Amino acid sequence: MHPLAQLDQKFVWHPFTQMRDWLRREPIVIASGQGAVLRDVKGREFLDANSSIWTNLHGHQHPKINAAIQRQLKKISHSSALGLANEPASLLAEKLVRISNFKFQTANKTPGMTRPLNSQFAIRKSQLSKVFFSDDGSTALEVALKLAYQYSWRIRSAACPPALMKKYPPRFLSLDGAYHGDTIGAVSLGHIDLFHQAYDGMLFKTDKVMSPYCYRCAFNRAQPERADARTYRKCNWECVSLVEKKFSVQKKKGNPYAAFVFEPLMQGAAGMIPQPDGWLGRVTDIARSHGALLIADEVMTGFGRTGAHSLKPTAHSPASLFACQQENVQPDFLCLAKGLTGGYLPMAATLTTQRVFDAFLGEYEEFKTFFHGHSFTGNQLGAAAALASLDILQTEKSERQRAQLQEQLHAELQTLWKLTHVGDIRQVGLVAGIELVKDWRTRAPFALRERAGIRVCEAMARRGVLTRPVGNVIVLMPPYCTTPAQLQKMVAALAAAVAEGF
Ligand code: PMP
Repeated sequence: MHPLAQLDQKFVWHPFTQMRDWLRREPIVIASGQGAVLRDVKGREFLDANSSIWTNLHGHQHPKINAAIQRQLKKISHSSALGLANEPASLLAEKLVRISNFKFQTANKTPGMTRPLNSQFAIRKSQLSKVFFSDDGSTALEVALKLAYQYSWRIRSAACPPALMKKYPPRFLSLDGAYHGDTIGAVSLGHIDLFHQAYDGMLFKTDKVMSPYCYRCAFNRAQPERADARTYRKCNWECVSLVEKKFSVQKKKGNPYAAFVFEPLMQGAAGMIPQPDGWLGRVTDIARSHGALLIADEVMTGFGRTGAHSLKPTAHSPASLFACQQENVQPDFLCLAKGLTGGYLPMAATLTTQRVFDAFLGEYEEFKTFFHGHSFTGNQLGAAAALASLDILQTEKSERQRAQLQEQLHAELQTLWKLTHVGDIRQVGLVAGIELVKDWRTRAPFALRERAGIRVCEAMARRGVLTRPVGNVIVLMPPYCTTPAQLQKMVAALAAAVAEGF
């Protein structure tokens, strides 16, 4: 065994990993990366087919991101955001506000150029205008959760007697199967029993509502077909009616939901569950009509992952960078992490509105301050990497590359329908989930203990392609720089692994 693999097995405890299994075989030890390729200490090459757990955007060792980090290193790596501002964090905050409000994006588009910096743009109170930095997806959600809680409490306590406020604290609604991170607040918002029941006693209560899992939806009367279940479903949008019902019932209890938390267009860790066109717009309209805040978790979906508005973006119809924009949804909180720095450094951001911000303004002794923060908030190296990554994302070259990759991914995935064990193929932009089943004709699932997803990923690794399953769903999420030949290899390895595995 390689000495570094030995060291790992002796000292490192890996996340979401049964360490008894881990200790049974020699781990792959990554030494370097270039584009979509990862190299290990033995010189073997692998394709990074899940973009290093959904973080990497433009590939490894991108010269522009490397250069931006190096330039920043020569100035300073980190100074505290408690009491101090810094250059890259300020620039990044402005840029995030600009791109997350779709109207600014269209207004400032100049063909062939990245959008010019210009702080003279008008922001309405309901638009995203303030950025709170933190470190990862979980903390981005934690910030949104605490802000929404405090905001709701303050707005309601102006009109509500204290006893009633105590009886009815702000309550949150999220989706069945939701995963929003591993800190206690974020876990409380989640509804994956396998992950969450272990901590039951530590969590606060949140409610869940059906998510639109068309492939396994009890309301979908369609027989299985060799197509994405969203396209042939037979239903009457019962999932949307259930959301409406949930909000109405809660309102009747005298404590309307304070906020609705969701991943837009596709739920990731729930099993790559895509939403049929129109679902997001409908349910967020319902939430709004009941006075709930919208918390959009774009930790996975952000930064172009869910594809373009149109496959060929133009000056008038640019590629949207966030899933919410694809259904014209304006959230009150937008949570970003993973791809924010192009996947180079841990950094996160929670964007919110002027309206929320204003509720935290007051005299010092009123203690309306947002009492929350982390040592590395607004880190300069992370912000410099993020600025470089956003510049790359907004070039026409990158928009074109993403559109082509999306189109090729769609074409390659069609080859998998011939496999008996492929039940559903769900693609949203540059993300795909392939659900493995015993037989597509019956949709019969593999039991978790059969480790179908894990076995297929192991067989893919032997073919030089790395990804991780979500249960029995194989995830393909290639870096945007993936070449046609590399993408073909990723899908071919998946097909061969499925054929070999069962
Ligand atoms: N939200 C979503 C949608 C995620 O996919 C994840 C991570 N997979 C998180 C939050 C938590 O992010 P992190 O692991 O960076 O804390």
